[in-house]
Amino acid sequence: MNRWLLPQDRVPEAWYNVTPHLGDALAPPLHPATRQPVGPDDLAPLFPMELIAQEVSTEPWITIPGPIIDVLRLWRPTPLVRARRLEEALDTPARIYFKDESVSPAGSHKPNTAVAQAYYNASGGVQRLATETGAGQWGSALSFAGALFGLEVKVYMVRASYLQKPYRRVLMETWGASVVPSPVDEPEHPGSLGTAISDAVRDAASRDDTHYALGSVLNHVLLHQTVIGLEAREQLQMAGEERPDVVIGCCGGGSNLGGISLPFVPDAAVRLLAVEPSSCPTLTKGAFDYDFGDVAGLTPLLAMYTLGHDFVPPAIHAGGLRYHGDSPIISALVRSGRMEAVAYPQKDIFEAAVKFARTQGTVCAPETGHAIRAVIDEALVAKEAGEERVILFDYSGHGLLDLSAYDDFLNDRLID
Ligand SMILES: *Cc1c(COP(=O)(O)O)cnc(C)c1O
Repeated sequence: MNRWLLPQDRVPEAWYNVTPHLGDALAPPLHPATRQPVGPDDLAPLFPMELIAQEVSTEPWITIPGPIIDVLRLWRPTPLVRARRLEEALDTPARIYFKDESVSPAGSHKPNTAVAQAYYNASGGVQRLATETGAGQWGSALSFAGALFGLEVKVYMVRASYLQKPYRRVLMETWGASVVPSPVDEPEHPGSLGTAISDAVRDAASRDDTHYALGSVLNHVLLHQTVIGLEAREQLQMAGEERPDVVIGCCGGGSNLGGISLPFVPDAAVRLLAVEPSSCPTLTKGAFDYDFGDVAGLTPLLAMYTLGHDFVPPAIHAGGLRYHGDSPIISALVRSGRMEAVAYPQKDIFEAAVKFARTQGTVCAPETGHAIRAVIDEALVAKEAGEERVILFDYSGHGLLDLSAYDDFLNDRLID
């Protein structure tokens, strides 16, 4: 056996809320002008009330509405796969499992929250969503979800990606979204996630029919992603494993990592590991502080590890990991020592991604390559120690729209 599948009727019926396990480690978001904790009314122009309630909820479980489960069933439960050929190539006694989130319509984990956010906005009477996207992963997930719930979607795409990576724009337009390059008012500027968030927040704040949607970082986004870890825990048992020794995920804003790891937080025997690029080392080199989520300083201040909201990371290929800040939940876990963090340069990442492709077959997203790099290193440590460790990681997305990055690696044009 190398794949464990759950039947369609086993999509989780509730999301797992880790907040009760964090105690007072989670500091409240502050209003950008007054620097007082934000209340529901401050967020109401941007988000529907259900999502605002989830953002601050301390309920241990939150029921998933039926219409969301119906859409998730288009591709969930996703497979749990054992990477036996990678194990053999590494000659390791470790057993390596991954949760394959690349099988979603948009090719990553991001639709797990996009579908929930589109549902709550549509059922709350909103007609239009504005959002940002870097290379296009989040924009395509929200465009897909918007199409299924009848919402108009406007995507502000980082200009450099808009010009260089047309395929995800075409995907978004195929699902009916309208896509413009950001920053909208500076046509020569290459843009960044921070400028695109500013554009999208401004759009949503200026129109009554429009809300804003964020693809990572916030508590409700990580909450929606916990279906990954909940399914994985059940599938590991089917595979005969009591628990993983370590759970690994790449970390940009923290949503796929949170999704796979948060259900394991209460089990102290399970190590949790975040992997980030050394060119945007938020968790390993950032400061824990209140900071804005965007360049213009329009968003609430979040307590998180940050490199500063005006930090512009180098143009590495893992666009989804180029964010100056991090999820407050992930930041709290790292700060308390419950989660570890490690950073790698991009050549090490592509070496690992290519090794995976040449053993397991599939070509991963450059973001996912970060997790695989750390998995390989953990498996080699297990080999040295002669220990049968169980490694679980999140295969956050496929790389079939990132082939220019592989081309650069294979032709020695990558810079670190
Ligand atoms: C967006 C993205 C990431 C990074 O975002 P997180 O919120 O940290 O999960 C990782 N992998 C893929 C494939 C992505 O699209």
